[in-house]
Amino acid sequence: MELNEYSKFTEEELYKHIGRLKEEKNAVILVHNYQMLEVQKIADHLGDSLGLSRKAAETDASIILFCGVKFMAETAKILSPSKTVLLPDPTAGCGLANFATADEVRSFRKKHPDYKIVTYVNSSAEVKAESDICCTSSNAVEVVKSLGNAKILFLPDKNLGHYVRKVTGADITLWEGYCYVHNFITIDDVKKAREMYPGAKLIVHPECPPPVVDAADEVGSTSFMYRYARDHEEELIIGTEIGLIERINYEFPNKKVYPLTQQAICRTMKYTTLEKTAWALEEEKWKVEISPDIRERAYNSIKKMIEIG
Ligand code: SF4
Repeated sequence: MELNEYSKFTEEELYKHIGRLKEEKNAVILVHNYQMLEVQKIADHLGDSLGLSRKAAETDASIILFCGVKFMAETAKILSPSKTVLLPDPTAGCGLANFATADEVRSFRKKHPDYKIVTYVNSSAEVKAESDICCTSSNAVEVVKSLGNAKILFLPDKNLGHYVRKVTGADITLWEGYCYVHNFITIDDVKKAREMYPGAKLIVHPECPPPVVDAADEVGSTSFMYRYARDHEEELIIGTEIGLIERINYEFPNKKVYPLTQQAICRTMKYTTLEKTAWALEEEKWKVEISPDIRERAYNSIKKMIEIG
């Protein structure tokens, strides 16, 4: 079948079709928090990129279908090398991951052999392979603390690196990269949201610029935000990509959870549609492949992070 033929299906038919294919092919569907709500509804697991990849690795599925962006599907492949990993749209990249290449990281290491290189998981498999250790937005502080007094290069997100440096006081050099979705959230957005929802607690992602992070009541990853909203009754303003707020409002319709800005939309996350997902699964298209050498070195960087807990 060709992709355009799936547009004849109704949404309900697509859900059924994807469900059938999933059973037939022993597939597990991972969906990132920033995906469109209709895609979130087909998830076996819904969450953040590393958590999803770890869950999929524990299953006996033959196929992992990752509704997200490329570095996420790569992480799933790094953790599950014998499984087939599919990405519904092969052009769904990440603007943040694109800020660092393996060549640039190798060249930094050549000039600064005494530095430890800490790489946020929002990076390519090649860049992970050149790193000493990976981190997520949930564990970046712990990962940096585990390196003692080492001089650190933190990449590719300067805002997350800045936040970790502030919390730990570590000797951190920042890479000039950012996530455009979070970096363009402003202190003006904070003022407007606080005026609109007085009394609501503000939680922001550490990929936001430092003034926004400083103005927040809490700072944390998407998983932290989700758990916070699930476990508390207070009104919340959430500063991250709107997909997460849509998820929370869908799952907990009686809670009062607002986006810090409606403009925080990751374009490439929205490339994934139900039609493309059905097509990728049916035709087993857009397989993610990583060379064994890169996979092994990238895996070591992820493993060191997981060992920290
Ligand atoms: S929200 Fe930012 S970090 Fe996440 S996939 Fe989009 S560009 Fe990359």
